[in-house]
Amino acid sequence: MHSKINIFDLIFFANYAMIIIVSGRFFKYFTRGFATAIALYPFIIVRKKELRDKPFLVYHERIHLRQQLELGIIFFYIWYLIEFLIRLISSYSFYLAYRNISFEREAYRNESNMHYLKKRKCWSFVYYLSRS
Ligand SMILES: [Zn+2]
Repeated sequence: MHSKINIFDLIFFANYAMIIIVSGRFFKYFTRGFATAIALYPFIIVRKKELRDKPFLVYHERIHLRQQLELGIIFFYIWYLIEFLIRLISSYSFYLAYRNISFEREAYRNESNMHYLKKRKCWSFVYYLSRS
């Protein structure tokens, strides 16, 4: 039996796709212990099993998954890196540069609002380029 899948079902699925992977090794090699969770669409990779139960952390990464989808994934990383470097030059601080990336500002600002992704408009991270 065939079930029809329309484009709206596909968009809905893509927007809510999320697979959580636990890998301590990934963080050891790729982030040198800096991060505890990373979003690589459609995956959220966490350093420890217990982190899967942290709703704000998972929601923060889900916001990143949405941002990645909106930028065709690859352009998210390119933009992320360029914005990080620009902010690093102006702040001389790795931490401040990271925290002020528009993607991070949006994710940190909204990680505790579990309804955020339902009402969020496309490319909302752009508003956070100039906001702190
Ligand atoms: Zn983040």
